[in-house]
This record gives sequence, structure tokens and C-alpha cells, in this order.
Amino acid sequence: MAVDAEVELVIVGAGFAGIYTAIHVERAGLAFKGIEAAAGVGGTWYWNRYPGARCDVESIDYSFSFDPELETEWRWSERYATQPEILKYLQYVAKRYDVNKHFTFNEKVTAAHWDPQVEQWRVTTNSGETIRCRWLIMATGPLSVPVVPDIPGRESFEGQSYLTSEWPKQPVDFSNKRVAVIGTGSSGIQVVPEIAKQAQHLYVLQRTPNYSVPAFNKPIKDEEWQREQESLRERRQVSWQSAAGSPWETFSKNYHALSVEERENALEEAWERGGVLFSKTFDNQMVDPEINEAAIDFFKKKLAEVVKDPSVREKLTPDYAIGTKRICTDSGYYEVFNRDDVTLVCLQDDPIEKVEPQGIRTKHNFYDLDAIVYATGFDAMTGALTSIDIRGRDGRSLKDAWQEGYQTYFGLGVPGFPNLITLNGPGSPSVFANLALTS
Ligand code: NAP
Repeated sequence: MAVDAEVELVIVGAGFAGIYTAIHVERAGLAFKGIEAAAGVGGTWYWNRYPGARCDVESIDYSFSFDPELETEWRWSERYATQPEILKYLQYVAKRYDVNKHFTFNEKVTAAHWDPQVEQWRVTTNSGETIRCRWLIMATGPLSVPVVPDIPGRESFEGQSYLTSEWPKQPVDFSNKRVAVIGTGSSGIQVVPEIAKQAQHLYVLQRTPNYSVPAFNKPIKDEEWQREQESLRERRQVSWQSAAGSPWETFSKNYHALSVEERENALEEAWERGGVLFSKTFDNQMVDPEINEAAIDFFKKKLAEVVKDPSVREKLTPDYAIGTKRICTDSGYYEVFNRDDVTLVCLQDDPIEKVEPQGIRTKHNFYDLDAIVYATGFDAMTGALTSIDIRGRDGRSLKDAWQEGYQTYFGLGVPGFPNLITLNGPGSPSVFANLALTS
């Protein structure tokens, strides 16, 4: 087969990981080429344009730390940045380090086969281009292949359908529309309050409730920004020493050594810090049921302060230990359930049977709809890799190799697949940590 290019290294994906890799590979003087399916850089922040999309890591931490000059050039406007601001940041970084010239955009890698004769990868794209390289760097992201649920009749719906993870570039207007959101993970919890502001009626279709803690998002004032800049080196240092790359001490308080009042204060303090960190209020909170129960009781108290209807509250309350699924971070999620034009549909009591041209039929009801939003998640961790025909030694495909579960070397390498680097694949810290912390 004709080869269109031969380089030392191919990078697949131009999100955080791909941009970072391109900058450093160029500095190392290696010949490389990048391939990206989207029309521009950004990765997850390119595709997930749904209203309300934000990062739940503080913006000052969710930015590259490998270049102190870059850190002083960029000024974040809010504690938790929105998707448009993060995308702008990544576009800025790509331009600053002249990364774009290495990437072919709107191009998808369809196959990568290891050729043992020449000890190179042969990478093929959807346009038929073939590139040979010694190293194949998959910066394809842990959450980049959407899951569209296989609900009978989905294609027959005559209204508008949207996926949060492939949101249109043009804003969508839900005014005067009856809308259903399916899914109440991080994406659903972020999009619901925004759609509720516009829709004539919003139905939130929840299968499993999640715990969510308010973000307490706010603009970053100049004095605060100045202060943060002055202490940034220490902040980064703490992040490097923490478990998840953010500047917070973990599991700091001994629950059993505290009085009832001190425990309550600790929970209040953790709650006000906002978001996922609530699971780190106490030492052993994740392993001692008594402590976890205390955190759940606190959550229930907070929920009762917001959601007026006790039956809705009950449906919104998870039945598992808090923190065992990643706690979501919201801006006004629970508040929407006090509105007359928002209905919580509990799919555990009333499961979806099918989608019909005019709406969604559940076991006991029919919801007449103009639009359906699928916030139904991703083929996480392995999906982006196994959806490409990657073949290693002996022609064995990665999909086959991982049939019984994935096997990697520190999440970076895969036995039998020489010189394949999976930057955010299974077994890597990726989604469990702040991946922008870089040296
Ligand atoms: P997710 O957490 O996987 O949530 C998917 C939701 O869709 C769940 O509520 C799931 O219910 C529901 N669902 C799936 N199939 C369904 C079906 N057939 N019928 C009814 N409900 C169905 O996906 P996500 O919200 O996109 O979040 C994924 C990850 O992305 C997060 O863990 C986070 O790491 C990241 N993320 C982060 C942010 C942020 O930084 N703030 C924002 C968005 C996403 P079940 O739970 O019952 O399966």
C-alpha cells in the first residue's frame, strides 16, 4: 500500500493531551504528525458545547502548569470555567506554541497496524491517507465516544434530538418547547437548569439519582486573581503532592475525634468549598459506613432546604454511599424541581418502553415532546481505542486483546502492541485526576 508520509511519531487527538504532547515532541525535535476528527483543537471541550457545560476542577488548576509564562498570560474569568472559555484557552495555547500546523483536522484514524518487518505502525485515516510511524500516541481521551442508548423507536422521533456530547455549534433555542432530558450524570445535571430556563415544560428522565453538591461558582475578582498568582507556585506544589492533582489536602479530619458540633462544622465547610471535594471531608469517609452515613444525612438536610416536595426529594436521593460514584457539581440543579414547568420522571418506577414519533412512552405514561436531549454518557476509557482497528504483533486486534478486560502497563502501554502509548486510556489516572497539571 502506498505511504503518504513517514514520521517518527503520530499523535491522535488534539485535546489537552494531544496539544501538550505536540508541544513537547516538537521541542524534542522529532518529526511528527497529528490527526484530529474535529475541525479544530479542544477535544472534549470542542464537542461538549451544551448549555451549562463547565469543568468541575477550578479553572486556575485546570490549566497547563508546564510553562510559567503561559500561566501568567491567561486570565480566567470564573472559579469554574465554562466550555467556551476552556475551548478559547486551548485554542490560545495551540496558537501560542504553533501546534495547529502539525495537525490534519476533520480527519479520523480508522486503523493502525503494527508492521513487524519494519517495526513501524501503519496508520490509515478515513480519507485513505496512510502514514508510517515508529510511535503511535493515542491522545484520544477517556470520554470521547458518546453512548446513544438503544431505545426502541429512537430514530422515529419527529422532533429534535440532541446529544450533550455532540452539541451543535449554533445555540439551540428551547423556548416554547416540551423537552425531555435523559440522563442525570454530570452532563445532565449541568444542562437541566439551563434548559429549564427556556423550555415550556422540561421532563427530567432519571434512572439512577446522583449526589450533587453546588459549585458555588463566582467571577474571579482582580484582587483574588492577583493573590492566586502570587501563591501559584505553592498551589501547584500542593497539587503535585495531592492524590488527584488539585491543591486540596485529602481526608484531613478525624471524624471520631470530633464533637457533634465540630463534625457539623467540618461538613458545612466541605460543602461550602463546593463540588466533588465533599467526599473528602473526613478521614475514612469512604470506608467507614458510620462516617459516610453522616455525610449522607448532611446531604439530605441540604436537599430538604432546597427541594420543597418530599416525594420529589425522595426520588432525587441516591441509595448508595456518597462518593462511591463521582459526586457531581451543579449550579442550581435541585432548585429546578420546585418549578411547575419541570417534572422529574423516575425511570426506576416507570421505565422507558420506546420512543415514538411524537414523544416518549414509558410503562405508565406518554410524554408529548418537541425535543429529546440525550445526556447518556460515554463508552468510557476503552471506547476511543477499541473503536479504531488497532492491530499489534501477530495481527491481533486491541478489541480482541481486551475482550476479557483491559490489560496495560501503568495505563500507558499495552502488551503485544509495541510503541503504542495510550495517554488517557484505561488504567491511567486521567479522569481520576486533574490532567492539566503538567511539567
Ligand atoms: P454519565 O455519568 O455516564 O451519565 C449518563 C446518564 O445517562 C446516567 O444518569 C445514566 O443512568 C443515564 N442513562 C444512560 N443510558 C440510559 C438509558 N438507556 N435510559 C435512561 N438513562 C440512561 O455521563 P456524563 O453525565 O456525560 O458524565 C460522564 C463523565 O464525564 C463524568 O463522570 C465526568 O467525569 C465527565 N464530565 C465532567 C463534567 C464536569 O467537569 N463538570 C461535566 C460533564 C461530564 P444510570 O446511572 O442509571 O446508568
